Amino acid sequence: MNHQIQSYLIKEEPFYRASGDEVELFEAAYALRTPMILKGPTGCGKTRFMEAMAWRLKRPLITLACNEDMTASDLVGRYLLDAEGTVWKDGPLTLAARHGAICYLDEVVEARQDTLVVIHPLTDDRRILPLDKRGELIHAHPDFQLVMSYNPGYQSAAKDLKQSTKQRFGALDFQYPEATAEAEIVSHESGCDDDTAARLVGIAHRSRALRGRGLEEGISTRMLIRAASLIAGGIAPLAACRLAMTKPLTDDDDLLRALDGFIDAHF
Ligand code: ADP
Repeated sequence: MNHQIQSYLIKEEPFYRASGDEVELFEAAYALRTPMILKGPTGCGKTRFMEAMAWRLKRPLITLACNEDMTASDLVGRYLLDAEGTVWKDGPLTLAARHGAICYLDEVVEARQDTLVVIHPLTDDRRILPLDKRGELIHAHPDFQLVMSYNPGYQSAAKDLKQSTKQRFGALDFQYPEATAEAEIVSHESGCDDDTAARLVGIAHRSRALRGRGLEEGISTRMLIRAASLIAGGIAPLAACRLAMTKPLTDDDDLLRALDGFIDAHF
């Protein structure tokens, strides 16, 4: 394996607690090199799942967080100036396609649709990537796979994938883990005790019920882990929950009061 790509191999097994048959399904999809979409709210474990799968499949994982300023060159690569003149530098997609890595495009709806069309020839039978600026046509390495994540909760007409993009992919749904599993994850990741983890999960559940009723999104597993880590480090629960969970979530005073009420009820 090429030296540059080796650094993307995951060295240690990531901790991932499966919720269902997603591991087996993903392995089956990878065996066919099906491009995949991981759907689910932010902070629910999609990236961790991808890391765990890359480790299981022994493939390097090249991750790119998408944003609306991203251009096709950010994906495929560009010429850069250095001491010897101009040199071509492969972008993450090209690097993965050339060397047989898994390319993971996180929060893909953030990218502009015209940027995403560069992935089309890689996601059908052709599995090719034309590098127009370089006059090169890459045939994807047999181990290459493209995976994208997106949050259907934020879906709007302006921020949705084109049908022509979606229909090239298989998809798996992700949700926040069920309560016992989520508490286990929170205590494992933060080092907090089981009781604290269970209380935090209780707060998250109540916040998730407010989704669509003022809150765009409830408290995620990621937020719980951050609050739990603060508590494990000696910060009082109310201060930790406010800092890591409720204040980042909303600026609305009424909602903040309601969320404070949930914290009070659990600690
Ligand atoms: P997403 O990619 O969906 O935004 P992440 O994968 O970054 O979310 O999840 C946030 C954090 O939550 C992870 O860093 C991990 O600590 C934890 N986590 C969430 N779900 C799981 C799970 N099923 N197993 C292990 N850790 C998890």
